[in-house]
Amino acid sequence: MESWRRSLADSITSPEEIAERFGIDPEPLVPVVRRYPLRITRHYLGLIEGPGDPIWRQCVPDPLELNDDQLPDPLHEERLSPVPGLIHRYPDRAVWLVSNECAVYCRFCMRKRRVGCPLPCGDDRSIDDAIRYITEKPTIRDVILSGGDPLLLDDERLEVILSRLAAIPHVEMIRIGTRTPVTLPERITPRLCRMLKRYHPLYINTHFNHPREVTYESAKACARLADAGIPLGNQTVLMGGVNDDPAVMMRLMQRLLAIRVRPYYIHQMDLVQGTGHFRTRVQAGLEIVEQLRGHTSGLATPYYVIDAPGGKGKIPLLPECVSRQGNVWLMRNYRGEFVEYRDTD
Ligand SMILES: *Cc1c(COP(=O)(O)O)cnc(C)c1O
Ligand code: SF4
Repeated sequence: MESWRRSLADSITSPEEIAERFGIDPEPLVPVVRRYPLRITRHYLGLIEGPGDPIWRQCVPDPLELNDDQLPDPLHEERLSPVPGLIHRYPDRAVWLVSNECAVYCRFCMRKRRVGCPLPCGDDRSIDDAIRYITEKPTIRDVILSGGDPLLLDDERLEVILSRLAAIPHVEMIRIGTRTPVTLPERITPRLCRMLKRYHPLYINTHFNHPREVTYESAKACARLADAGIPLGNQTVLMGGVNDDPAVMMRLMQRLLAIRVRPYYIHQMDLVQGTGHFRTRVQAGLEIVEQLRGHTSGLATPYYVIDAPGGKGKIPLLPECVSRQGNVWLMRNYRGEFVEYRDTD
């Protein structure tokens, strides 16, 4: 067995183990875990400094997950799936859910409806169906592997998927979304990287949400991927009590750049059932963008996006910073000063 498999098998999966370690009452967590699975790797568990902290909130079940009247799939991902597990919303790119498993089951997950569920996924039949659909749709030039976490598949299974995609002439690039550099950094083995680098152009988006998640081990995992020539981006979910603070967010973005990861998106929490206790107001996101833009490296400034309900797509939001009077643009800079720019006629 590969050593990352052993680490994964050593994860915490029951409320009793959390209770034992932190001296809390496990009872209120039991019904939550019956509904939404629990798994916390030893690495991620080690980042918790105490109950209720930003790492704890992301991975320890909360009874609030059960009293939330939102919909399980507000983005209509299932309706936008021509074959199970393949979400085709935009003409030129598709998201392919190749795994339902994750190293840590994040409590805020937008795919809470399916992660950890025994749905057919990543098996021969699902792969054949998705490959056939993509092959028949020449407009698809970008395929995003997601899940669950694609890197919870074995190298061999992942390579079957990558090689079959790479053999489709109109697929120009492949992306992988994974949280393993954060939650199970030992998954990023030299063997995996040797395999991945055969499938360029390959992009990886990681998922760091808090500066404390940027550890020595995560940095090493990201360095291995970057050294394999894989451009690394990061998608962060904006969450109350985790990272809804401009100073925390700025620190996170700066630390990501220091480990060669380029911030890509800050996501407004989707209106997904079971995640309401994390949701922040849109104003909080706009204030964060405002505090980043111009105050630190432009590379540290991701787009703040809302994924519109009903599957209507991701929309970037910017704080109001421009207005026009005739030929003159009135713009607000990072210090809040108004600056005039006279346009060409
Ligand atoms: C987010 C998303 C994409 C990719 O969007 P980019 O803005 O290109 O990163 C593609 N399809 C679906 C369904 C998505 O949710
Ligand atoms: S790793 Fe991603 S898919 Fe898995 S539970 Fe966390 S947010 Fe959801």
